[in-house]
Amino acid sequence: MIKENLETVLRKIAAACERAGRSQSEVTLIAVSKTKPLEMLREAYDVGAREFGENKPQELRDKFPGMPSDVHWHMIGHLQRNKIKYIIDKVCMIHSVDSVRLAEAIDEEAGKHGITVPVLVEVNMAGEESKFGITPEETEAFIREISILPHIHVEGLMTIAPYTENPEENRPYFRNLKKLCVDIQQKNIDNVDMCNLSMGMTGDYEVAIEEGATMVRVGTGIFGERDYTVRA
Ligand SMILES: *Cc1c(COP(=O)(O)O)cnc(C)c1O
Repeated sequence: MIKENLETVLRKIAAACERAGRSQSEVTLIAVSKTKPLEMLREAYDVGAREFGENKPQELRDKFPGMPSDVHWHMIGHLQRNKIKYIIDKVCMIHSVDSVRLAEAIDEEAGKHGITVPVLVEVNMAGEESKFGITPEETEAFIREISILPHIHVEGLMTIAPYTENPEENRPYFRNLKKLCVDIQQKNIDNVDMCNLSMGMTGDYEVAIEEGATMVRVGTGIFGERDYTVRA
């Protein structure tokens, strides 16, 4: 089933790229495997998935040794400072930086390992109270402030759009995130490279790609519905 799901998602990604006049190579599919058991991750790996996304640091840490070393792990969920140590040397990117204190703590942990960690800044485009992320208005100043940290590298923006049955409702949020990204890129801030836009989930990734997503985070569409009553 995972094989067919993955093929379907890749086909829809290709079609969305085609509609937008973009190359499929510009879009990275992240298989969001949170709550799913290792067997399912391996099944996805066996049919070609290499980018995996987790939203809990301990879960990422626990799954890490069970997967081949050419897997790229993305930390996509809210991160508490005391949990950075679980994942700092395991992830290729942290998508969810939303405070200076968090950025500083990531910088410090990365420094201990002698590495520089690519990060995205999480922006709350719809202003939802329930969501993490900084406001669009704060974003440029925030990026200027954290850009001086030597062991992180700001590489773009991420957003989690509202849950909706109609993905068209999220199109303006995706379009505005792209606009914000381009605006900040044009400021040529040292040590900042605004090339990545992590936006779009199972319900709205095609619209996100049409609006410029370079990374889409798809869980349900690949692995099926999550059951939060039994912990993976
Ligand atoms: C769970 C999650 C996803 C994937 O959600 P689906 O709707 O299952 O595709 C994407 N991004 C983040 C940050 C998530 O926590």
